[in-house]
Amino acid sequence: MTLAQRIHHLAESQTIKMAKMGRELAAKGIDIINLSFGEPDFNTPEYIKNAAKQALDENYTFYTPVAGYPELRKAIAGKLKRENNLAYDFDQIVVSTGAKQALANAILCLVNPGDEVIIPTPYWVSYSEMVKLAEGVSVFIDTTVEQNFKITAAQLEAAITPKTKAFFFSSPCNPTGSVYSREELAELVKVFEKYPEIYIISDEIYEHINFGEKHESIAQFPSVKERVVVVNGFSKAYAMTGWRIGYLAANKEVAQACDKIQGQFTSATCSITQRAGIAACEGGLESVLKMKEAFLKRRNLVYELLKNIPGIKSNLPSGAFYFFPDVSAYFGKAHQGVVIKNALDLSLYLLNEAHVAIVSGEAFGDPKSIRISYAASEEKLKEALYRIKLALAKLT
Ligand code: PMP
Ligand code: GLU
Repeated sequence: MTLAQRIHHLAESQTIKMAKMGRELAAKGIDIINLSFGEPDFNTPEYIKNAAKQALDENYTFYTPVAGYPELRKAIAGKLKRENNLAYDFDQIVVSTGAKQALANAILCLVNPGDEVIIPTPYWVSYSEMVKLAEGVSVFIDTTVEQNFKITAAQLEAAITPKTKAFFFSSPCNPTGSVYSREELAELVKVFEKYPEIYIISDEIYEHINFGEKHESIAQFPSVKERVVVVNGFSKAYAMTGWRIGYLAANKEVAQACDKIQGQFTSATCSITQRAGIAACEGGLESVLKMKEAFLKRRNLVYELLKNIPGIKSNLPSGAFYFFPDVSAYFGKAHQGVVIKNALDLSLYLLNEAHVAIVSGEAFGDPKSIRISYAASEEKLKEALYRIKLALAKLT
């Protein structure tokens, strides 16, 4: 066998795979509506693009410090204080090539082979694979649409064992859009207070795409802050997915470890992107709020359209830009010889029959559901949901 074991055991990112399949069909001239990828369809705000142009003109084209320019790390520390009431020194911040790398850094720095990492399901596709790469063991806590996909303190406590090293979650959540309130986080914190050795990796990348109460970070609880790794980034809030910039804030030991590992893997993220990141941090939230309003309108639209499709069971997501409906009512049905056994079959059926790309729930740890991204125009969303409805109606 040529390739290492770890690559054989690693699953391909299903979000990326479905987006790729959608693009391939579109390249063949098929009118595909791509609701698979979690990517804002807006352009990056002008003031951020201008900062990047200026960075090039000013020759910010050399290697940067591994953890990012000090000015950027200070700007991020300022953001965390201003928007989240979290105090961090700039050297507790490590800027990476997307929040994805920040998450991978944290897992690789914290998890030993055999360590357990508790992950509530549904979870974002890459969490379990990152744990696998670190040779850790994912321990999943199942949730249901009825509980709005949020775990209880009792469920958390029941999942903890002497091997538990970390708890890994997102709020607002990709794929369910669920958001933990301050009270709900406080309940989880009470459990963590009993287990001071457990780290908490808190993925807050959808912080600003939150339609309910103000975003709360679990790091705001002083009794656990020291062992929370806050991960955030610019991809979603500022429509900067292609720029590849995200960051983490942690205690100094973890931050230095992440700096060390990143120094061996990528050196640092792009210098020009980092200058744009400073502008994003310091430019206020006007453009972010505008995009949030658009997402809210789309959420309400898709919710109404989904309600009219028989056999679809969905919560009303409070944040992010996804729906994660239970579609198990269609399992066992068929159309022209194509039998739908599971969510993967259904996602392929919708791609081929409705020409709408979505992602199967298996990749998120929930085989009963599919994920629909609504980061698309209202016109496209209406058309996509219409096509989905027609295709599902053909299943008998
Ligand atoms: N966390 C979650 C929950 C996500 O949906 C994503 C997707 N972009 C990321 C992290 C990674 O974001 P990026 O690497 O683009 O900053
Ligand atoms: N986070 C996005 C998603 O869930 C982008 C894809 C990815 O980074 O895997 O679709």
